[in-house]
Amino acid sequence: MSTLSAAPAYLSRYELVVGMEVHAQALTQSKMFCRCATDYQGAPPNTRTCPTCLALPGALPVINQAAVEATIRTGLALNCRINETAVFARKNYTYPDLPKGYQISQYELPLCEQGYLEIDLEDGSTKRVRIRRVHLEEDTGRSVHEGDYSLIDLNRAGVPLMEIVTEADIHSPEEAYAYLTRLRATLRALGVSSGDMEKGALRCEPNISVRTLEQKARGEYGVKVEVKNLNSFRAVRNAIAYELERQVAVLEAGGEVEQVNMGWDEARQRTVLQRGKEDAHDYRYFPEPDLPPLRVSREEVARLAATLPELPAAKRNRYEQAWGVRRVEANVLTSEAAVARFFEDAVAVYGDGDGKPQRLATWMTGELFRLLYADGDGQDLRQITAIKITPAHFAALIKLVDDKVINPNTGKKVLEVMYATGDDPQTIVAREGLAMVSDVSVIDEAIAAIFTAHAAELARYRAGEEKLLGFFMGQVMRATKGKADPAAAKARLEELIKE
Ligand SMILES: [Zn+2]
Repeated sequence: MSTLSAAPAYLSRYELVVGMEVHAQALTQSKMFCRCATDYQGAPPNTRTCPTCLALPGALPVINQAAVEATIRTGLALNCRINETAVFARKNYTYPDLPKGYQISQYELPLCEQGYLEIDLEDGSTKRVRIRRVHLEEDTGRSVHEGDYSLIDLNRAGVPLMEIVTEADIHSPEEAYAYLTRLRATLRALGVSSGDMEKGALRCEPNISVRTLEQKARGEYGVKVEVKNLNSFRAVRNAIAYELERQVAVLEAGGEVEQVNMGWDEARQRTVLQRGKEDAHDYRYFPEPDLPPLRVSREEVARLAATLPELPAAKRNRYEQAWGVRRVEANVLTSEAAVARFFEDAVAVYGDGDGKPQRLATWMTGELFRLLYADGDGQDLRQITAIKITPAHFAALIKLVDDKVINPNTGKKVLEVMYATGDDPQTIVAREGLAMVSDVSVIDEAIAAIFTAHAAELARYRAGEEKLLGFFMGQVMRATKGKADPAAAKARLEELIKE
């Protein structure tokens, strides 16, 4: 599949329009409207249930204050207005995993509205994706399919769920990816959601349409297609890119895009029809009669606002402005709170002047993350909390390179040993005899031996074939087992080869 940059020319006559709906489970001890525990992952089926979440007659819901606070803090972090009155509403539909026959959600009066999240674009600029609303609802149960029958597990039914809905402000697959990455980093920094997509704690549903530039000028939109069951941000990005090309191809062929729900086939990297033409659902929303309107005082909002941590976007700015870290590294380092903490702890030991934070950032996002990615289950940078290397040892390693005790290549090898053993770098360098050779007599001795062994190349060099200098440099490094100080070796070589 081609990416946007390699897309056919006719795509330039269309605009991609994406709105994103994200469902994030709120990290609370108990469910949204009852006291059942939310630790349903891996629990035996139907062991986290009670009359309320089983929807038995006479059971009444009680609002979970922690879930309300998590949602308000999320709304504040997303620059939303927090409504003084929010109303829970019944969203009526029937489905086997929905025991009440309705879901308690919020409709006309959600907790949070009209915010925005700032994302970084590839050209270095930033953009605001407007947030239409953040509301609170309850999760559904799960159907478990076994052979030709299905079972219902209601452990998940009633787990608090925040729904975060954007305006149709996203105009490329890359913007969607940037939005989701920044949103998840923000939720995790707040501690309001695990953001774990693979565990179903975060789910994204983009609705995707295209319109011609003429339609855009008239303020019209194309027909929306919703894609469901996306299990990674990369899948979201690829599904949007795929839909863009598919929908434009339909229109270019004179057809019409149908309003349908699509799924994502990861193996074939394409969207597949899930359900046919969707009529707008009539959920017959009405205010939940068993719950009073939720009043949110300004004092409560101010108290919660004071609990917000430094958010990823602000942290990113601080790394750039105060420490001179490049944006690309600053973004990666602030994508997970645990990574930012490791980085800041290392800076505290190593120092924040003379471009030092950038040097640390380069080593961290390059060499350390390479080891991290090769380990465990791949891409999850939160694994940094489990590694054997401490921030202080990491800083000490970079300092050994700075001080020319070891050269950068040896530094990478020492880092691998640190990763495997947790030993401090000085110990490893001493134990394995890795200290850099800067002793001129040792280097001169090596060079003399090489000149003897490669007399022909030496003669060619002296006859004017200057590119052979690289060959001799390689021989010096090899003769010293990579431990020669490259600068010292080069200086001696250039001196001695002239004679
Ligand atoms: Zn319950």
